[in-house]
Amino acid sequence: MSNLTRDFFYGLSKNKFLNENAKKWGFKLGAEKFVAGTNLESVTKVIKELNRHGISGTIDNLGEFVSDSREATKAKNEIIRILDRIHEENLDCHLSIKITQLGLDIDQDFCMANVREIVETAYQYDIFVNIDMEDYSRYEKTMEVLQILRGDYPNVGTVMQSYLLRAEEDLDRLQDVRMRIVKGAYKESPGVAYQSKEEIDRNFIKLAKKRLLGDAFTSIATHDHHIINELKAFVREHNISRDNFEFQMLYGFRKEMQYDLAKEGYRFCTYIPFGTDWFGYYMRRIAERPQNLGIVAKDMLYT
Ligand code: FAD
Repeated sequence: MSNLTRDFFYGLSKNKFLNENAKKWGFKLGAEKFVAGTNLESVTKVIKELNRHGISGTIDNLGEFVSDSREATKAKNEIIRILDRIHEENLDCHLSIKITQLGLDIDQDFCMANVREIVETAYQYDIFVNIDMEDYSRYEKTMEVLQILRGDYPNVGTVMQSYLLRAEEDLDRLQDVRMRIVKGAYKESPGVAYQSKEEIDRNFIKLAKKRLLGDAFTSIATHDHHIINELKAFVREHNISRDNFEFQMLYGFRKEMQYDLAKEGYRFCTYIPFGTDWFGYYMRRIAERPQNLGIVAKDMLYT
């Protein structure tokens, strides 16, 4: 894909007007294939179906870069309702949160209080909370929030993006933290991030192998079968316990492969976004892989 196309969709993902209006449009452009509905009922149904196939879930209540404190409080309350639901229905599922949805860009103390309430509730229910990593301008603050919470709660972890030049050094400092390894979804400058697929992939494999040899739990989050196959071979070669890691993919992507990995006896977790705030999330998926739009467009033409 050309950089121009990638930049175009990435630009759309951050467009405030489109993000706001898309909430009113309902799902368009095939987004419903990648978003598990708009409410708690629809997402619960999806998790139950995955659980039946031995797959766990991580729920993402869609929304990010919130600048209105009422909206952030509303999101916090919605997320607590999700935790109640996971607990009540005994779902095999944890939570993924984006702290810009909870007020990071408004006031760090306000955000911290929101995140703390979520993590405390999840702790009472014995549910893990993953703090998703957003763009690099929020990286330091996200790590600060993580470190403060880690002082009080064991049920919280985060994400390392292999495109970051500093990823390995930071990962070494966070050896005891549950971590998801990803390539990285945002457009970052050469000053902070590798730009070529080869370098990003190489670093992903390096970080994942290092983690697999350590003690803390690791989520290997990619749809890239080359990487998955290489890591499966590494796990066999080093006799690494399958209880120490899982593969993760996004809802709606490579479904067959998700089910196959679970059938092969690997722990598997599907990342399940839901809600009306789908636009930014979906545009990033198209920026990564425009075929995601193509597949849907083809479907729309022939059905
Ligand atoms: P890509 O580099 O997109 O693809 C590599 C190769 O895999 C392709 O060339 C193709 O051969 C194959 N492939 C990929 N997708 C498909 C497909 N649908 N069908 C067929 N073949 C395919 N990013 C963040 O910055 N922060 C986060 O917190 C974060 N959380 C994530 C959580 C999960 C569970 C996942 C899966 C991703 C997350 N990401 C996050 C996004 C991530 O950083 C990447 O942008 C995204 O996963 C695309 O990279 P990839 O590793 O899947 O493979």
